[in-house]
Amino acid sequence: MESYFSSFSGASMITVFENCRVFDGVNEQLIDGASVVIKSDRIKEITRESVKLKDAKYIDCAGRLLMPGLIDAHVHANTPTYSFYTNDRMPPSLLANHAAGILEGMLQRGFTTVRDAGGGDRGLWQSIEDGLIQGPRFFYAGKAISQTGGHGDMRPGDVSEPCNCGHYAGSISRVADGVDEVRKAVREELRKGAHQIKIFVSGGVSSPTDPIWMPQYTEEEIRAAVYEASTHRTYVMAHCHTDDGARRCAEFGVRTIEHGTEIHRDTAELLAEKGVYVVPTLSTMHVISTQGEALGLPSASLDKIQGVYERTLISIENCQRAGVKLGLGSDLLDVNYHPLQGSEFRHRGAVSKPIDVLRSATSINAEILQRTGDLGCIAPGALADVIVLNFDPLKDLSGFENAQQNIPLILRGGQCIKNDLA
Ligand SMILES: [Zn+2]
Repeated sequence: MESYFSSFSGASMITVFENCRVFDGVNEQLIDGASVVIKSDRIKEITRESVKLKDAKYIDCAGRLLMPGLIDAHVHANTPTYSFYTNDRMPPSLLANHAAGILEGMLQRGFTTVRDAGGGDRGLWQSIEDGLIQGPRFFYAGKAISQTGGHGDMRPGDVSEPCNCGHYAGSISRVADGVDEVRKAVREELRKGAHQIKIFVSGGVSSPTDPIWMPQYTEEEIRAAVYEASTHRTYVMAHCHTDDGARRCAEFGVRTIEHGTEIHRDTAELLAEKGVYVVPTLSTMHVISTQGEALGLPSASLDKIQGVYERTLISIENCQRAGVKLGLGSDLLDVNYHPLQGSEFRHRGAVSKPIDVLRSATSINAEILQRTGDLGCIAPGALADVIVLNFDPLKDLSGFENAQQNIPLILRGGQCIKNDLA
């Protein structure tokens, strides 16, 4: 299939970005006056020597900062609204068209890779791979797996099936109970190509019937999910708000904790010791706590969100102190709120050093995706996912909030998504 992308060059052609200030995804020390050479879809060289190559295309960055394309480790493409009642009742084709628009928006904001935390599927992945839609690299979990009455069970309490079958599968999640059902659900998602598995181990804000402090899934169920994921050499990401839930994640083999809003100091130390990652999601917490009523969220959800944003900031500080590796995720829902994706940087900047926030969005998120060296870095051999900025993120992280103006160049795998520099 012919891609809709325009490429700078043919398969073996070379592009040279000159006069860049390079953040390589890891080092605080930036490389001034550098040239970055890209051949086909990979980065070939970063050098401060002058580059003279015949037939290469040269782009002058005029001292701007060049860095790896951003990675968002927690998105939901299949979420056109904050109401799962609404999303769950949309025809799949309508949901898919919304998802296409949402994914295109992410790429235009400089996110060249995203990890979908529930709802994203093979069809969206294939659509991006085939160039049917312009999207970021897409690591999907398939449907997130929840116990009955857990955070992924979006049925209101007054809904009951006359057949008493208890099944639910919605736009982002499905229900499975007991070791055997969980095992089968994980195997099914892996069969359908899931890159990682998502489960829920505590209550959440947007679900109608579970308190946020509720423990979800037993040790045996969590361990079954972890084992089955490991048979595909992948891992489990777990929705988790509570300290107790985070502890259970660490003990039972979960690799990444999503939200992590109430991690205490001693638990943070356990997470660091076990190498468990935490992906805080401040943007969505902020939207729900400030816009919840306007979004029409039920009063139960509005009650649940009270203080969660503030507690997340403390939790992040506890994790940083203990040396827990923090990813970066936005978790935004609703076509009107997805555009706030870049605000995650500013929110994190309230408690983290800019360099650490940038590492979270690049090299650490790449580690989470098990793609170190390939994604999230500017290094020889890495995929040519590159952005150029009109601002200095080490001084002000809020520049990411207006990508249209502040990110003049976006490259994904050597293909030009946007170039206002030329
Ligand atoms: Zn989520």
